[in-house]
Amino acid sequence: MKVFGVTGWKNGGKTGLVERLVSELTARGHRVATIKHAHHVADVDHEGTDTYRHRAAGARQVILSSPLRWANMTELHGDDEPSLDTLLARIDEADIVLVEGYKSENHPKIEAYRDENGKSPLALTNATVVAVAAKTRLDLPVPVLDLDDTSAIADFVAEFVGLAPTPKGRTLRNDCFALPPGVDWVPVEDALNRLRTRLVPVADMETLDVRDGCDRILAADAIAIRPNPPAANSAVDGYGFAHKALSGGKTSLPLVDGRAAAGAPFAGRVRDGHALRILTGAIIPDGVDTVVLEEDVQAANGQISFDGAVKKGSNTRKAGEDVQSGEVVIKAGHALRPADLALLTAVGVRSVDVRKPLRIGVLSTGDEILDRPIERPKDHRIFDANRPMLLSLAAKWGHVAVDMGVARDDEDEIRKRLDDFAGKVDVILTSGGASAGDEDHVSKLLRTHGSLTSWRVAIKPGRPLAMAMWQGVPVFGLPGNPVAAFVCALVFARPALSLLAGSGWKMPAGFMVPAAFTKAKKPGRREFLRARLNDQGQAEVFKSEGSGRISGLVWADGLVELADQAAEISHGTMVRYIPLGSYGI
Ligand code: AMP
Ligand code: MG
Repeated sequence: MKVFGVTGWKNGGKTGLVERLVSELTARGHRVATIKHAHHVADVDHEGTDTYRHRAAGARQVILSSPLRWANMTELHGDDEPSLDTLLARIDEADIVLVEGYKSENHPKIEAYRDENGKSPLALTNATVVAVAAKTRLDLPVPVLDLDDTSAIADFVAEFVGLAPTPKGRTLRNDCFALPPGVDWVPVEDALNRLRTRLVPVADMETLDVRDGCDRILAADAIAIRPNPPAANSAVDGYGFAHKALSGGKTSLPLVDGRAAAGAPFAGRVRDGHALRILTGAIIPDGVDTVVLEEDVQAANGQISFDGAVKKGSNTRKAGEDVQSGEVVIKAGHALRPADLALLTAVGVRSVDVRKPLRIGVLSTGDEILDRPIERPKDHRIFDANRPMLLSLAAKWGHVAVDMGVARDDEDEIRKRLDDFAGKVDVILTSGGASAGDEDHVSKLLRTHGSLTSWRVAIKPGRPLAMAMWQGVPVFGLPGNPVAAFVCALVFARPALSLLAGSGWKMPAGFMVPAAFTKAKKPGRREFLRARLNDQGQAEVFKSEGSGRISGLVWADGLVELADQAAEISHGTMVRYIPLGSYGI
């Protein structure tokens, strides 16, 4: 969360400037909060209200809530006003807080200045005023902006506090899934290339405190503000001295008074030929370039002695030996892990620009599909197996999964469901009805009202992949068969969602292992077999390739990927095995 203030003399135009900045920054997609410091005559509550009566009766804290807003009022009863920091800690819904008033606090401020009351600008005396917005041209030691040019002032503020420039994700073109005319079958590689080149990150950005950044995707490179370590320091508990004073062989050095410890540096200079007690993490004082380990010396009578050669610089850490300031420490697109938070914090980064998680709607379709298991279902009904699977895949991949329920094979119903959710999600995954048959209403609807392209992908299990845009939201129509839906989700949806979410295209790592099965594979399509490794590290495959056999997915620890061409696989033939872990599950 960034903090920027607006200050100025009375009637300088502070409130008007805050107002215009709030509206400008909000229009740019930032979430803005404000804090206003008022004098004692201004009050948030007044005689006659119900809450006034609660307060007058002695309530220390009163919360007023209505369908419009809520407010938390705390009576001071003569206590000091809370500090600005305490108030800032109460704000949790903002990328930037604009503070009006609080002239003497430390945050950077812009001064709204009108040359009407004969007073000189505050910028001349207050170092926290970093710019002035004035009606007239002034000669000042800080930038002077036009008070009426809100856009330029907003640019200045955003640049000064480091607000991510475009918090809005990009939008996809309506024809992004179109195939060239005449294309019928799409090889897997082509389908993947098309997705990779046509999709862009659509997830919005926000700025978070580093401590809240775990699992979030960085939207901009993170840059070290401070080196790590910031100064040369000792790597061990021991004794420090200047290496040039050593003569080789047995060494005795008198100890100087005092010591250097982490957080308590030694102020003076250590004279040549002397040594100083130094502890791990202590800054290396002047006159010291080498540290000998405590266990390697005898210390007695105010001196240390040790035998043997010590290399210059031993047991010291150099300033910036890990990271120099200004270095890119983590690249945009990286999902932050716990150790990343350690590095960012060590190098002085307090807030990070990250992507908001992608919201993924999951819809099942089919007249036969029942929302969930019930007692005594009719024989022609089946329970929705895809939805719980796809929702949890989305969640495992770090997105927000949004349940869109089940829709019958009815165009109106499917259309209504898509309309209802288009404004609430960034991507929609549907399953079922994606082919070109009589009851394939998802593809029919998307063809007439969306911008559908049926991708007949040369893949087994799978094949039809209905790709379309619905009111600006990409829709991935997956096959209905749970096995095909699962494989297509891993192969196509995962890298595509990762790109849309801002973490780049992701392909799974696989490796070659000998086959523990035989198979004559047809040419012209890529096949994924449910597989697992046996004790000898060979790939076994599930006993059936039937795409309704969900038990095979549970049996498998990975997939064997067979390339598009024909193949005659016998025991020992090398095949590509991709563990499910490589798909992030
Ligand atoms: P479709 O793609 O709609 O032709 O469906 C292909 C097969 O998958 C049919 O046998 C459907 O009953 C089955 N199926 C479709 N959706 C689901 C689902 N959500 N859960 C379980 N099976 C499904
Ligand atoms: Mg169906």
